Amino acid sequence: MSSENPCLKCTLELSCCASLSGLRVNQTEFDRCFADVADQFDVERDGPFYRLSVKNGGACPHLETQCTIYEDRPMECALFPHTIGAVFDNDTLLMTVHKRTDCPQKADLAMDDAEAVNRVEQFARETVGADAKIRVILDEGPARMEVLARRVLRKLKPN
Ligand code: SF4
Ligand code: SF4
Repeated sequence: MSSENPCLKCTLELSCCASLSGLRVNQTEFDRCFADVADQFDVERDGPFYRLSVKNGGACPHLETQCTIYEDRPMECALFPHTIGAVFDNDTLLMTVHKRTDCPQKADLAMDDAEAVNRVEQFARETVGADAKIRVILDEGPARMEVLARRVLRKLKPN
């Protein structure tokens, strides 16, 4: 990273990597980035994804003074301060993307919302296949209403 990297001005002590919790990766990313350090994580399977949290709220094993696998880091790391959610809605993989994270350098680091949506769609296709039904919703602004409505409906729906 260059000295212009906004993360060098992080006032949260690199919290996104230093207390890594709930990182969503697919199988390819898991194998590439975390298989050899998997014992350091609580690993939760979530449909086609893994959710990774470092045990006892610790730091990502790839964090030294900066990310040591920066060029190969998983999609959700590259997307941050945007972050993603995923749920199967009948036979459709519904993914949400938003940037309501607490990153103090959001203004400098966040990519355009439309680009974030495109990246998430590509990630979803790589994960569940080109023919799968996928929908990506920007969970920001007016579109957030749909996401909130879906959450309420899911809570009301009988199992
Ligand atoms: S992405 Fe944001 S929270 Fe993470 S290290 Fe950079 S400035 Fe800090
Ligand atoms: S892989 Fe790199 S960017 Fe992702 S959490 Fe670990 S140190 Fe941070």
